[in-house]
Amino acid sequence: MTAPKKKLKVATTSLAGCFGCHMSLLDIDERLFTLLEHIEFDRSPLTDIKEVSPDCDIGIIEGGLCNAENVHVLRDFRKNCKILIALGACAINGGLPAQRNHLPLTTILEEVYHTSPGVSNGMIPNDPELPLPLDQVHPIHEVVKIDYFIPGCPPSAEAIWKVLTDLLAGREPELGHGLMHYD
Ligand code: SF4
Repeated sequence: MTAPKKKLKVATTSLAGCFGCHMSLLDIDERLFTLLEHIEFDRSPLTDIKEVSPDCDIGIIEGGLCNAENVHVLRDFRKNCKILIALGACAINGGLPAQRNHLPLTTILEEVYHTSPGVSNGMIPNDPELPLPLDQVHPIHEVVKIDYFIPGCPPSAEAIWKVLTDLLAGREPELGHGLMHYD
């Protein structure tokens, strides 16, 4: 990997996800130091930067869309990142959170906050500060254009490394046999 003159800016976020995909990113282990010679992290849970820079090179999205804030963050990433990557099953097809899609949202909220065992005098949260839940959980490609998809729950560190190093080298990312998996 030849070091580019200017480091690429990489932003990451977790929408409706469990952070397992971010853990897989960290599983790159000591190669993170090699990566940091070529990139700098912008908005990310790794940096705690809250806004995506307008000149971001790569955006990595974990998780699908379960509420209005997720949609806002995703659109912001698309607006500011030249390349957008869907990382993991939840971003690609909604994943585990999308299992709620076969039930009406009101039924789920009633069950969780009113009728679940152990709940007494429950109340569905209605603080205006809370993001509005969507009726269904959506994969991110339904809302914005996604350039690359890395499948898996979570994708392996090797798969993430391969895609990032391909992009840094100016190659079209390709997951060969052994790295393309869906579990
Ligand atoms: S794809 Fe799997 S590991 Fe990644 S956010 Fe979803 S549930 Fe978590």
